[in-house]
Amino acid sequence: MDCLFCKIVAGDIPSTKVYEDEYVYAFKDIDPQAPFHAIVIPKEHIVSADMINEQNSHLVAKVFEAIAKISKQENLENGYRVVNNCGKDGGQTVGHIHFHLLARRNLQWPPG
Ligand code: AMP
Ligand code: ZN
Repeated sequence: MDCLFCKIVAGDIPSTKVYEDEYVYAFKDIDPQAPFHAIVIPKEHIVSADMINEQNSHLVAKVFEAIAKISKQENLENGYRVVNNCGKDGGQTVGHIHFHLLARRNLQWPPG
Protein backbone atom coordinates (compact mmCIF):
# COMPACT_ATOMS: atom_id res chain seq x y z
CA MET A 1 0.00 0.00 0.00
CA ASP A 2 1.30 3.43 -0.90
CA CYS A 3 1.13 4.88 2.61
CA LEU A 4 4.08 6.63 4.26
CA PHE A 5 3.18 5.55 7.78
CA CYS A 6 2.46 1.92 6.75
CA LYS A 7 5.97 1.92 5.23
CA ILE A 8 7.38 3.26 8.50
CA VAL A 9 5.58 0.49 10.46
CA ALA A 10 6.98 -2.08 8.02
CA GLY A 11 10.50 -0.65 8.43
CA ASP A 12 10.75 0.24 4.74
CA ILE A 13 11.22 3.89 5.67
CA PRO A 14 13.48 4.60 8.68
CA SER A 15 12.11 6.18 11.83
CA THR A 16 13.25 6.84 15.37
CA LYS A 17 11.11 4.49 17.43
CA VAL A 18 9.68 5.79 20.69
CA TYR A 19 7.31 2.89 21.50
CA GLU A 20 5.89 -0.24 19.91
CA ASP A 21 3.41 -2.95 20.84
CA GLU A 22 1.13 -5.34 18.97
CA TYR A 23 -1.25 -2.58 17.88
CA VAL A 24 0.64 0.71 18.07
CA TYR A 25 3.83 2.27 16.75
CA ALA A 26 5.23 5.64 17.86
CA PHE A 27 8.17 7.52 16.39
CA LYS A 28 9.79 10.95 16.48
CA ASP A 29 8.28 13.54 14.15
CA ILE A 30 10.75 14.52 11.42
CA ASP A 31 9.80 18.21 11.82
CA PRO A 32 9.27 18.63 15.58
CA GLN A 33 6.96 21.39 16.79
CA ALA A 34 8.00 20.98 20.44
CA PRO A 35 11.13 19.67 22.23
CA PHE A 36 9.31 16.32 22.43
CA HIS A 37 7.15 15.52 19.39
CA ALA A 38 6.16 11.95 18.60
CA ILE A 39 3.66 10.55 16.11
CA VAL A 40 1.54 7.74 17.56
CA ILE A 41 -0.34 5.50 15.13
CA PRO A 42 -2.29 2.26 15.02
CA LYS A 43 -0.32 -0.25 12.92
CA GLU A 44 -3.51 -1.00 10.98
CA HIS A 45 -4.15 1.40 8.12
CA ILE A 46 -7.04 3.74 8.90
CA VAL A 47 -7.24 6.87 6.77
CA SER A 48 -8.42 9.39 9.35
CA ALA A 49 -10.46 9.96 12.51
CA ASP A 50 -13.47 10.30 10.24
CA MET A 51 -13.17 6.55 9.45
CA ILE A 52 -13.42 5.39 13.07
CA ASN A 53 -16.33 3.01 13.67
CA GLU A 54 -17.44 0.20 16.00
CA GLN A 55 -15.07 -2.25 14.30
CA ASN A 56 -11.86 -0.23 14.70
CA SER A 57 -12.42 2.13 17.63
CA HIS A 58 -10.55 -0.23 19.98
CA LEU A 59 -7.38 0.78 18.11
CA VAL A 60 -7.87 4.40 19.20
CA ALA A 61 -8.11 3.12 22.78
CA LYS A 62 -4.83 1.23 22.21
CA VAL A 63 -3.24 4.46 20.97
CA PHE A 64 -4.23 6.25 24.18
CA GLU A 65 -3.03 3.33 26.33
CA ALA A 66 0.30 3.68 24.52
CA ILE A 67 0.39 7.44 25.09
CA ALA A 68 0.01 6.95 28.85
CA LYS A 69 2.91 4.47 28.75
CA ILE A 70 5.07 6.81 26.64
CA SER A 71 4.36 9.60 29.13
CA LYS A 72 5.90 7.51 31.92
CA GLN A 73 8.72 6.22 29.72
CA GLU A 74 9.70 9.74 28.59
CA ASN A 75 9.02 11.46 31.95
CA LEU A 76 6.38 13.83 30.58
CA GLU A 77 5.12 14.55 34.10
CA ASN A 78 4.58 18.25 33.31
CA GLY A 79 1.90 17.29 30.81
CA TYR A 80 1.50 17.11 27.08
CA ARG A 81 -0.88 17.72 24.23
CA VAL A 82 -2.40 15.09 21.91
CA VAL A 83 -3.46 16.42 18.52
CA ASN A 84 -5.31 14.71 15.70
CA ASN A 85 -5.54 16.60 12.43
CA CYS A 86 -8.43 15.27 10.34
CA GLY A 87 -8.96 16.02 6.66
CA LYS A 88 -7.99 19.03 4.57
CA ASP A 89 -9.34 21.77 6.82
CA GLY A 90 -7.95 19.93 9.85
CA GLY A 91 -4.46 20.15 8.36
CA GLN A 92 -3.97 16.40 7.81
CA THR A 93 -1.13 15.77 5.35
CA VAL A 94 -0.58 12.00 5.80
CA GLY A 95 -3.57 9.73 5.10
CA HIS A 96 -3.00 7.26 7.96
CA ILE A 97 -4.63 8.28 11.23
CA HIS A 98 -2.04 9.64 13.65
CA PHE A 99 -1.86 11.47 16.95
CA HIS A 100 0.77 14.10 17.60
CA LEU A 101 2.19 13.87 21.13
CA LEU A 102 3.72 17.24 21.99
CA ALA A 103 5.56 18.05 25.20
CA ARG A 104 8.33 19.89 27.05
CA ARG A 105 7.18 23.38 26.28
CA ASN A 106 4.30 25.55 27.40
CA LEU A 107 1.73 24.97 24.64
CA GLN A 108 -0.63 27.82 23.87
CA TRP A 109 -4.42 27.59 23.92
CA PRO A 110 -6.41 28.12 21.77
CA PRO A 111 -4.10 26.60 19.14
CA GLY A 112 -5.24 28.82 16.22
P1 AMP B 1 -0.30 15.94 9.80
O1 AMP B 1 0.05 17.28 9.22
O2 AMP B 1 -1.18 16.00 11.00
O3 AMP B 1 -0.81 14.98 8.75
O4 AMP B 1 1.06 15.36 10.36
C1 AMP B 1 1.97 14.63 9.61
C2 AMP B 1 3.25 14.66 10.39
O5 AMP B 1 4.11 13.65 9.92
C3 AMP B 1 4.02 15.99 10.27
O6 AMP B 1 4.19 16.54 11.58
C4 AMP B 1 5.34 15.58 9.63
O7 AMP B 1 6.44 16.32 10.13
C5 AMP B 1 5.42 14.11 10.00
N1 AMP B 1 6.21 13.32 9.09
C6 AMP B 1 6.13 13.29 7.74
N2 AMP B 1 7.01 12.41 7.24
C7 AMP B 1 7.66 11.86 8.30
C8 AMP B 1 8.69 10.88 8.44
N3 AMP B 1 9.24 10.27 7.38
N4 AMP B 1 9.12 10.58 9.68
C9 AMP B 1 8.57 11.19 10.76
N5 AMP B 1 7.60 12.10 10.69
C10 AMP B 1 7.15 12.44 9.47
ZN1 ZN C 1 -1.14 3.43 6.29
